[in-house]
Amino acid sequence: MKGSVKQDQLKIEQLCTRHRLLSRLSGTDRRRMARKMQVVSLSSLHPLYEMSGVINNVFFPLSAVLFFLGTTLEGQVIEVGQIGSEGIAGVEVAMGTPYAGMSLMTAAIQIPGLALQMNADDFAEEVDRYSAVNRCVRRYLGFFLAQLQFLIACNRHHNVEQRGARWLLALQDRTRSRKLRITQQHLADMLGVTRQSAERLLNDFEVAKILDSQRGAVTIKDRSKLHERACACYRMLAKRLRALFV
Ligand SMILES: [Zn+2]
Repeated sequence: MKGSVKQDQLKIEQLCTRHRLLSRLSGTDRRRMARKMQVVSLSSLHPLYEMSGVINNVFFPLSAVLFFLGTTLEGQVIEVGQIGSEGIAGVEVAMGTPYAGMSLMTAAIQIPGLALQMNADDFAEEVDRYSAVNRCVRRYLGFFLAQLQFLIACNRHHNVEQRGARWLLALQDRTRSRKLRITQQHLADMLGVTRQSAERLLNDFEVAKILDSQRGAVTIKDRSKLHERACACYRMLAKRLRALFV
């Protein structure tokens, strides 16, 4: 029994090195954090966090990709953030504000996959007690806020084609796959447009030989053409993301 616990521990420590932020911590910090983590498979589109709901666990995505939604009281939604293996979902618990422990936004799973899960109180304690973890989380918060500001401005000022191309490129960066398992309705929700608009956008990209659109999936065929259609927000965000790991 003890042996298998040790093996599981070793597996989690190894998985930590696949997370871009955790991999930058020292072996000592990573080993200590790994002891408070478990591996989970995230596999549904149900919300992970509801806006203003309590955050019980934080997640470090490995192969999973998560998204955040901005919502109005009338229930309209639009994407305001994406997280892959560079980020931490539930990072708000480290902010130490009166709202710490409550989710600022609704979060859900965009692409199913693995993540490391840690109890929110354990995570908050790690950030308070260990300076390297604190620095790492603060760096990520800088990117998180930059992403939020770019996407707010982008959603208001750039057209559906520019935003759609930006969104597909960012998702491909995080999945490292040409085939993206998304539906027209999901794309529509992310862009805050009707399903018909999302369908028209995918058709236009298909006619331009940028991608193939099948039921429930999109395969990107020409990334450089997609890049040409995207607004500068994609380039700026990709630059900020690279800077996070310099
Ligand atoms: Zn934009």
